[in-house]
Amino acid sequence: MWNPLVERMAPDELRELQVRRFGRQLAYAYENSPFYRRKLDDAGIDPDGIERLADVRRVPTTDKAELRDAQTGDLFLYGDLLATDPGDVTEYHQTSGTTGQPVRQADSWRDWEWWGDCWATVLWAQGFRPDDRVFFPFSYNVFVAFWAAHYACERIGAEVVPGGNLSSAQRVVKIDDLDVTAFASTPTYALRLAEVAREEGIDPTDTAVSRIVCAGEPGASVPGTKARIESEWGADVYDHAGATETGAWGFSCTGEAVGLHMNEAQFLVEVLDEAGEPVSPGEIGEVVVTPLDRAAQPYIRFRLRDRVELADPEVCDCGRTYRFAVGGVLGRDDDLRKVNGVLLAPTAIEDTVRAVEYVADEFRVVIEAHPAKDIDQVRVIAERTPDAARDDRAIATALRAELKGATNLSCRIEVVPYEALDRFELKADRVTDTRDRHE
Ligand SMILES: [Zn+2]
Repeated sequence: MWNPLVERMAPDELRELQVRRFGRQLAYAYENSPFYRRKLDDAGIDPDGIERLADVRRVPTTDKAELRDAQTGDLFLYGDLLATDPGDVTEYHQTSGTTGQPVRQADSWRDWEWWGDCWATVLWAQGFRPDDRVFFPFSYNVFVAFWAAHYACERIGAEVVPGGNLSSAQRVVKIDDLDVTAFASTPTYALRLAEVAREEGIDPTDTAVSRIVCAGEPGASVPGTKARIESEWGADVYDHAGATETGAWGFSCTGEAVGLHMNEAQFLVEVLDEAGEPVSPGEIGEVVVTPLDRAAQPYIRFRLRDRVELADPEVCDCGRTYRFAVGGVLGRDDDLRKVNGVLLAPTAIEDTVRAVEYVADEFRVVIEAHPAKDIDQVRVIAERTPDAARDDRAIATALRAELKGATNLSCRIEVVPYEALDRFELKADRVTDTRDRHE
């Protein structure tokens, strides 16, 4: 373990430590961030009055929309969220802005070292060691993506190969030539790289890659997708959960359970029901995260909109006392769609598509009004694999039946030739909803 003292700490002690550090972070935010001073004053919160978890829950949560508002106008780049002197900022990153104006993220050097430590916890738990040679096939730009994982590898003592400005074909050739032992990517791109490797005449299972850490999408905890990446590469696949704002708050380990431990040394992770009360193990709730030691841009009780199923630490056999999210991030509130009264999680479709024989990795989902009837319909466009030994009709029938079982919806299936759909290099965008949203 990267930090065995905390990773094995008794849950009661751990909770006490978290509450103490939450109090310290809250007082810091109040003192230094005009945004939080205003917010806490408005809510009548005494920043020095945090003694137990019940006190934490009285503190208002922070929403993404508030961050955007705080950074709008001509104040300065980071708005009044900033809690340090602008001269102390050493890193600029921003969110992708898929759901609105991007949020700008300031980090000081101390914060950046903290990011590295969080990622070192993730990578060490997944078996990354100094003798690893780790490839980073992402575009090193304004998005935080795998930047902190790159630094964490150096911190662990592993060798880093920065594969930024290369084509996918050049990347797989490098992975092969350099005997790379591990790489980091989105689940979508791990599958894409395997596809490209085969096009280049490289069998991914013949490379030295034995470990892949995924981030950016829930795929590595979606059983069908995880299994498919593992068989494509002949490697173990690990998951991570994080956000530009909060950092890496969750990670899978080499233990048996599929899902994510919460990094309770660096974050207070709350899983809450709709009334804002903590859920019990076995129940699903929304993740609210407080990074416990941030300087430049602190976040108090940030609503991630991710949903997880909470479990006790014992569900995993690795010995960590950190609580667990079974099956990883189950979906984001933003992703869930209501179709004919049924709640549809795109990850359920992904899991099914990836588990059906002769269906390739890439797919699309279109949710639309039925052309004739007054109902919605879900159209799933799936590719046949190059070696498919069934006709399109048989593939569609099998996929339709599996999807009915998984989602309770009767989907329309279109089978298209292999590689008919565009591929993604970072996060995939597979779901289109053309319905009139006013209904
Ligand atoms: Zn574990």
